[in-house]
Amino acid sequence: MKRILIAGGAGFLGSHLCERLVGRGHTVVCVDNFRTGRRANISHLLSHPRFRFMEHDITRPLTVLGRVDEIYNLACPASPPHYQRDPRYTVMVNVLGVANLLDLAKLKRARILQASTSEVYGDPLNEEQVESDWGNVNCTGPRACYDEGKRCAESLLFDAWRLYDQPIKVVRIFNTYGPRMDENDGRIVSNFITQALNDQPMTVYGDGSQTRSFCYVDDLVDGLIRLMESPPDITGPINLGNPEELTVLRVAQRVAALLKMKPNIVLRPLPTDDPRRRRPNIARAQALLGWKPTTPLDVGLVRTITYFRRHLGEPVAALKAPGRDKIVSIEVARAARA
Ligand code: NAD
Ligand code: UDP
Repeated sequence: MKRILIAGGAGFLGSHLCERLVGRGHTVVCVDNFRTGRRANISHLLSHPRFRFMEHDITRPLTVLGRVDEIYNLACPASPPHYQRDPRYTVMVNVLGVANLLDLAKLKRARILQASTSEVYGDPLNEEQVESDWGNVNCTGPRACYDEGKRCAESLLFDAWRLYDQPIKVVRIFNTYGPRMDENDGRIVSNFITQALNDQPMTVYGDGSQTRSFCYVDDLVDGLIRLMESPPDITGPINLGNPEELTVLRVAQRVAALLKMKPNIVLRPLPTDDPRRRRPNIARAQALLGWKPTTPLDVGLVRTITYFRRHLGEPVAALKAPGRDKIVSIEVARAARA
C-alpha cells in the first residue's frame, strides 16, 4: 500500500480523491490551507488511522516526514470568481506552489500528478479540444492568472521530466461537478442548483449559447487514479472530461426539469474572455487509460441536487461573477422553454 500526498485535499475534487484512496487501503497525507476548501469536506476522514492532515500553504516549501510514493497536486482556487479575487495568489500557487511540490517529489522519488485544466486551451479555435492544441489564451485578460498559471505549471513539470527524468503526469480536467462543490464559488452547476432551490432566477451569462461539457466527480476521480497508476512513459497531458456538450441555457433547462420547475432565468452580461465552447476529445484517455465517463448528466445532477438540499439548511444567495450585477432580461425563459 502506498503513502500518497494530496495537495488541495480539502477541496471539492481533493476530498473525493482522499476518500477513494483511503478506501483503497492507502495512507493519505492531505495538505491544504483552506483557501477555498473546507474542513467539513474531510471531517469524516480526520479520525481514520490512514489519514493525516497538514495545514500548509504550498507556496511555502514543505517538509514531510517519512516516505511519499505519489503526489497529487489539486491545490489552486478553481472557479473564476475565486481565482480572479487575488490573481497574484493564483499565479503564485501555480508557480511557487508547483515548484515546491516538484522539489518534494524529487527528494522523495515520488510520482507527481498535476491537475491542469481545459482553460489551457483558452477560447478554443476548434470544436473539440485535443491535447496537441496549443491553445488560444489572452495573456493580459482577467482569466490569465489561472490559464497562464496552469500553463506555466505544465511547463515546470515537463522541464523536470526532461532535465531530471522526474516521473510526471499532467491531466487537463474539463468542467467537473458533484456533491461538495462550494455553493458560493460562482460556478454554473452550484449557482443554478442553489438559485433554483432558493426560488431565485438562474443567472445565465451572455445569451446562454456558449457551451461546456460536464463530468461527474466520481468518473473524474477514477480517471485521476488510472493516470497516476499508468506506466511511467505515460506523462500526459491527457484530457479528462465528458464529451457531451451542452449550452449554458440547456444546463438551466435540465436543472429546472429535474426539480420539476419551469425554467426561471435572467440574463446577465458575459464575463470577459468567457470561452465560447468547450468539449474534450478523450481518445487519448480511452486508448491509454481505458477511461471514459459513465455517469449520465441527469444522474449526476440528481445526486448533486440531493447534496445541496441536505446541506443548505438556510437559503443561500449564489455568488455573482465579478462585475456582474445588472439583470438584462428575463426573455430567455421563453427560449429555454422552447
Ligand atoms: P477547490 O477550490 O474546491 O479545491 C482547491 C483546494 O486547494 C482547496 O481545498 C483550497 O483550500 C486548496 N488550496 C488553494 N491554495 C492552496 C495553497 N496555496 N496551499 C494549499 N492548499 C491550497 O477546487 P476543485 O474544483 O476541487 O479543483 C481542484 C483542482 O482541479 C484545482 O487545481 C483546479 O484548478 C483543478 N480543476 C478543477 C476543475 C473543476 O471543474 N472542478 C476543472 C479543471 C481543473
Ligand atoms: N455561467 C452562467 N451563470 C452562472 C455561472 C456561470 O451562465 O451563474 C456560465 C459562464 O459564463 C460559463 C459557463 O457558465 O460560460 C461555465 O462557467 P463556470 O464558472 O462554471 O466555469 P468555466 O467558465 O471556468 O468553464
